[in-house]
Order: sequence, then C-alpha cells, then structure tokens
Amino acid sequence: MQPFTYTRPTSAAEAVAAHSRAGADARYIAGGTSLYDMMKLDIDRPRHLIDVTSIRGLDRIDTGGDQLRFEALVPMSAVAANPTLQSDYPLLAESLWKAASQQLRNMATVGGNLLQRTRCLYFRNGTGNPSSVGTFPCNKREPGSGCAAIGGIDRGQAVLGTSDACTAVSPGDWPVALVAMDASLELLGPTGSRTLPVADLYRLPGTTPHLEFTLQPGEMIIAIVVPKTRAGRASTYHKIRDRESYAFALASAAVALEMDGDRVGRARIALGGVATRPWRATAAEQSLVGQPLTPETALAAGRAALSGATPGHYNRFKIELGARTVADALLIAAGRNA
Ligand SMILES: Cc1cc2nc3c(=O)[nH]c(=O)nc-3n(C[C@H](O)[C@H](O)[C@H](O)COP(=O)(O)OP(=O)(O)OC[C@H]3O[C@@H](n4cnc5c(N)ncnc54)[C@H](O)[C@@H]3O)c2cc1C
Repeated sequence: MQPFTYTRPTSAAEAVAAHSRAGADARYIAGGTSLYDMMKLDIDRPRHLIDVTSIRGLDRIDTGGDQLRFEALVPMSAVAANPTLQSDYPLLAESLWKAASQQLRNMATVGGNLLQRTRCLYFRNGTGNPSSVGTFPCNKREPGSGCAAIGGIDRGQAVLGTSDACTAVSPGDWPVALVAMDASLELLGPTGSRTLPVADLYRLPGTTPHLEFTLQPGEMIIAIVVPKTRAGRASTYHKIRDRESYAFALASAAVALEMDGDRVGRARIALGGVATRPWRATAAEQSLVGQPLTPETALAAGRAALSGATPGHYNRFKIELGARTVADALLIAAGRNA
C-alpha cells in the first residue's frame, strides 16, 4: 500500500469539492469493504481518500412516497431487514440479505455496493504482491496486458456480455434487482446534479474492460430511486452459489411479475453471476406476456434469457444453471402473487 491523505467532509457538496481538488487519484470511501481490499491487493492505488460516512442525512430509507428512495450511506443490512421491503418488494430485501455476511452488511453501504469490483480470480490475485498467488495478465487491471481467464480456470467467468478482452462477472446482487426494477441514481458532481438509470452505470467490457462505470470524474452517488410498481410483491431474488451463505452467485435471477388473472401481464427479469454487467433479459420478459406461468413457460423464458451465451472451458454449466435459476425464480415470484 502507498501513503494516502484522508479527509472526512460533513456534507456532499464538501465531499465533491474535496474530490475535485484532489483529482484523479482521489476515491470516495464508505464502508471500505471493497476499496480497502483493492488497496491491500495493490489493484487500486489512491493517493487521497474522502470518507463520506460523516455526511449527515445520507442514511435514510423512504418507502412512503411515489417511489422508494435509498440514500447512499444506508447499510446493506438495513434494506435487508426493512419489513415494508420484505413484504412489498422482497426482491430488493433478498438481494441484500443473500449478499456477503451480516458483519459486512452492517458495514457496507448500498451506494458502495454498486461500485464494487469483480471477483475474477485473475483480476484479484494476479498482481504478484505478497497477498497474491502469482502474476497474471488482466486487461481490467493493466490495460493491454491480456486475459489469463480466457483459456484458464474459467468456471466462475461470465457467459453473457463477454469480449475477447474480458469475461469477468459483475459481482453485485443488489444491482441486478435494481436493474430489473428500472431504478435510477441521483448523482452529485463538480458540475451539478443528474439522474442516471442504474442499467446505464455499467459498461460492457468490449476492448476497454478497465472502464467499468459511466460515472464522470468526482461524481458521488447520493441516492437510489426505485419506481413503485404492483409487480413488487410478486418478486424474488433467487441466488445459486457454491454454499448457501457468504458466497457470490454462480447464477442469480431478479424477477417481478404483474399477473392478469392467471396470465402474465408483465415480467421483469434480470440476471447476475453469469454476465459482465447486471443483465436485463428483455427477450425472456417478452416471451411470457399473455402466457400462463407454468414450469414449461418459465423454463422457456429461462432459455431465452441465456440465448447468445458463449461459454469457455469450465463454465458451460452456467447456461443450463442460469436458465433453471430464472425458471425457479419465476415460479417463486408467481407464488407470491396476492
Ligand atoms: C468476503 C466478502 C463477501 C462478499 N459477498 C458479496 C455478495 O455475496 N454479494 C454482493 O453483492 N457483494 C458482496 N460483497 C461485496 C460487498 O457487498 C461490497 O464490498 C460492499 O457493498 C461495498 O460497499 P462499501 O460501502 O463498503 O464500499 P467501499 O468499499 O467504501 O467503496 C466501494 C467503491 O465505491 C465507491 N463509493 C462508495 N460510496 C460511494 C458514493 N456514495 N459515491 C460514489 N462512489 C462511492 C468507492 O470509491 C469505491 O470505489 C462481499 C465482500 C466481501 C469482502
């Protein structure tokens, strides 16, 4: 780790100004559960840390208005345990309840969660520093160096949205649920405020996998806004992993349904664990409209969600697993339709 300065502003405007003054080597830090890892692994080398946790009035959940609003410093555990969300928007609460561990969820914030970096083994373990298992090329870490995951141990890698330069999975659970619900971000930057759909926060890797997010320099996440919909109740975040707790997704599906009688009026489906960014499955959604929801139609939608998948050596299983995860999620969500 290299030396860095540390400041603790007490307002968002002060934090943004401090970031502007410090320049490209500055980072906001919230719970620190992702950024400190990146620093210890020598992947990120900030010279200035701007700790946003002393900013007052950025830690509220508001479920009372026309939309749900989550301020950036809300701990993951607070959303997971919120009774209104558990009953009316279970996919949101479940996506955080099934993420990380209770200690991490108490520390980590819903804003920081959106910007965590990939768990790709070659990205995290390839720097050659003492906490690393060796030295591996990684286009995300060192642009132009190559990708050791392609042709390597690729069991955990993505099958959707990949490129010849990168197959790293987008790791977060919460972003998948937010993308399914058409959520957006309130941002504050050096030139003012703007709104950004969560789906547009994430770039595909293409030839520039080191560029992961579309935030402008110094932009801070202030809040996450989710439009209210009657699809909230008939929803779930279904996560399949190597062990039932404290593990990242091998495949996950965020699903919310509006039923017209016994037929699907509208379906929202997004996938995690299988793609390079939170993956909205619009063809699968369309395939269900007007259909009764049966194990057969659910599995057909799951297969549509994985269409175009390109597996490597060891991750072909994710295509079938992903399809069945979507199918199971649809049936769980339909079972919650009141
Ligand atoms: C062992 C382990 C297991 C985990 N398992 C899961 C899991 O199963 N599912 C899952 O989804 N996650 C998992 N995580 C990741 C965890 O959820 C994230 O580390 C956490 O959500 C990050 O939030 P934070 O507040 O600690 O962010 P920080 O580490 O403080 O910051 C992360 C990034 O966001 C930026 N940032 C933070 N806040 C803001 C803001 N308001 N505006 C702009 N930029 C900001 C920082 O500059 C940094 O780049 C796991 C983490 C660990 C260590």
